[in-house]
Amino acid sequence: MSAFFDLVGREPDGVWSAPGRVNLIGEHTDYNDGFVLPVAVDRGCRASVRRRDDGMLRCWSVQLGKGAQSAVAELVAGVTEGWSAYVLGVAWALREAGVPVPGADVVVDSDVPAGAGLSSSAALECAVGLALSELAGVEVDRTVLALAGQRAENEVVGAPVGIMDQMASVHGRAGSAVLLDCRTREVRTVPLPLRELGLALVVLDTRVTHAHATGGYAARRRACVEAAGLLGVAALRDVSLEQVEAAAGELGDERLRRARHVVSENARVLAAVRALETGDVAALGPLMAASHASLRDDFEVSVVELDTAVEAALDAGAVGARMTGGGFGGSAVALVPLDLVPAVAERARAAALSADLRRPDVYVVTPSDGARRLS
Ligand code: ADP
Ligand code: MG
Repeated sequence: MSAFFDLVGREPDGVWSAPGRVNLIGEHTDYNDGFVLPVAVDRGCRASVRRRDDGMLRCWSVQLGKGAQSAVAELVAGVTEGWSAYVLGVAWALREAGVPVPGADVVVDSDVPAGAGLSSSAALECAVGLALSELAGVEVDRTVLALAGQRAENEVVGAPVGIMDQMASVHGRAGSAVLLDCRTREVRTVPLPLRELGLALVVLDTRVTHAHATGGYAARRRACVEAAGLLGVAALRDVSLEQVEAAAGELGDERLRRARHVVSENARVLAAVRALETGDVAALGPLMAASHASLRDDFEVSVVELDTAVEAALDAGAVGARMTGGGFGGSAVALVPLDLVPAVAERARAAALSADLRRPDVYVVTPSDGARRLS
């Protein structure tokens, strides 16, 4: 019997699922109106949902063993404590977008590890958002759904996240990566035929999140906004590397390096897309290496755990490896020849052990479809 039946005493009207994601390349570019290249993965959040007629929205997390509830009519903006802010927040954001969100019982069950950089939050928002909009009888555009998830996270959870995670979760496609232009929100599916290439996409979760993650993220965003202002543009998307270097004096060393990362990273995303579209996978290795070095040296968001994992993966034969996600902990991602996956995992664990770091979790993910109804 399902967890839903145990909790609600009836079967759900349907089950919806939305994936987590791993970002192949394009880090800290989303909030600079730039480009990102995430991949939706074969881990996701399932939302089992049944409509209620009394206007109450009740939710339960299998992972946390905790529930919460609110009347849909009483949902308001403003930061709400606890995990249910994601669920109630997405219901609020959809209602703000004009969707007549009904009352419902919602049970979520996810195999995306929370806080590991695979975006368990977007998976949760998108699964619940798709379920509620279908139960409302409204076909919500996928980008509108992603925006509702982001709005929930920004205005109800209180996390100033960009749009990458939700867009990857709704627009993902099996065997593909998703090129997203964060300014226009234009999406392009880019082939990532790993099996044909004899490669695996490997996540190396350091299992650490450093205390300065939130403050560090906010400080990086601020530096980017300041740099764009000094350069006289709306966002760092709008400048070339030459313009950044030429303004070194006005920017000062730190803002110069932050801007140089963003501008060079945008170029690397587009180069990675060209490489994939022309079948030149070997070109991804140097691009991922340059991305990692730039995040480590110019943007200063890597940590010893991520550097160690990346180096170990490359030493053991990965084609490319880099930190992924916001940094200060979380995960690295590597493209690894299929027969070398065990060696990469082994080397990463051994390297962590000898550096006195936590044992990383290493696993393969598969590029998968975006949010969908399962039953
Ligand atoms: P990430 O998205 O990288 O996993 P976040 O901090 O953005 O990390 O989101 C993690 C948060 O999302 C958790 O702390 C929790 O509040 C919420 N969350 C994710 N998955 C679940 C789940 N299965 N049940 C309850 N809450 C969840
Ligand atoms: Mg998240």
